[in-house]
Amino acid sequence: MIDSFGRDITYLRLSVTELCNLRCKYCMPEDGVCKKKHEDMLTEDEMIMAVQAAASLGITKLRITGGEPLVKKNILSICRRASQIPGINELCITTNGTRLSDFAWELKDCGVSRVNVSLDSLNPKKYAFITGRNEIYNALSGIDAALAAGFDRVKINTVLIGGFNDDEIAKLAELTVKFPLDLRFIELMPMYDSRDFGEKSFLPVSEVLKALPDLEKQEADGGVAKLYKLPGALGNIGLISPLSDHFCGYCNRVRLTADGKIKPCLHSDTEVSIKGMDFEGMKKAFSETIFNKPACHPELSDSCRSTAGRNMNEIGG
Ligand code: SAM
Ligand code: SF4
Repeated sequence: MIDSFGRDITYLRLSVTELCNLRCKYCMPEDGVCKKKHEDMLTEDEMIMAVQAAASLGITKLRITGGEPLVKKNILSICRRASQIPGINELCITTNGTRLSDFAWELKDCGVSRVNVSLDSLNPKKYAFITGRNEIYNALSGIDAALAAGFDRVKINTVLIGGFNDDEIAKLAELTVKFPLDLRFIELMPMYDSRDFGEKSFLPVSEVLKALPDLEKQEADGGVAKLYKLPGALGNIGLISPLSDHFCGYCNRVRLTADGKIKPCLHSDTEVSIKGMDFEGMKKAFSETIFNKPACHPELSDSCRSTAGRNMNEIGG
């Protein structure tokens, strides 16, 4: 569906839960989330109906996210049903990977085509610092499992944080040489209630280009990342720059939160509730919200924080 600025909105990110087994410092409060009432969250049937409504308006790509989707009890059923919705031709999932060894094969069987795993450090102590949990070996096994299950182009998402993992850029990039993995460096976004990292943490992705002078530019693949490759690498390296060079002008996304709010922009507090609606109601709500998607979000920086009104785990990353 075309929005009022001529952008074709084809990509829905569905958050299936706000809950998570990790506590990444930039994403959610240290003491976890204030659990909302069960009856305020979308049911599985409502999620599926919402995806059907979105697909009827031209959504072709669906990403399941959260919170951590693999802590959701009925995640396999949601994936299986979503993959069968006419019009949805790409079903992806973003996970912290810690439970992926148990799920990789079944996700594939349920019709998931692509897996992104978040990993901000290869150092167990630093991983535990940023995520609040000692789960790095489970996350690494999860990546292995995704490769073993035969997922094509497994992607690693790394949030670039000055003073934390900027000294690991080369080591992380090496993963694309040793394994058939793509890597995305994402600029840290100053979300609503994420704990302060300080000005020096907000590194532009141009730091990656400085750290990896051998990177060769690649053709864009239609996503928001600028693509590069190390010589002879199996996978590519993408740079995602919501702060230093935002991509609002060609944003093709809309989000649906686990409590049933359509968010036309990650950094806007505009939310339209579809909880309790029937198919036609949901379709109308998606149609109006997509049409009114804002042109762009305000500039983001350490001092200009996101006006999303929610933490990232409550939106869906
Ligand atoms: N739990 C899953 C995971 O970690 O992959 C899915 C949800 S998580 C919110 C989705 C993505 O958002 C992750 O790659 C995470 O690193 C990223 N993210 C969360 N907070 C962020 C922030 N403040 N700035 C940039 N990326 C962020
Ligand atoms: Fe959980 Fe993902 Fe947020 Fe980390 S980034 S706390 S893994 S939802």
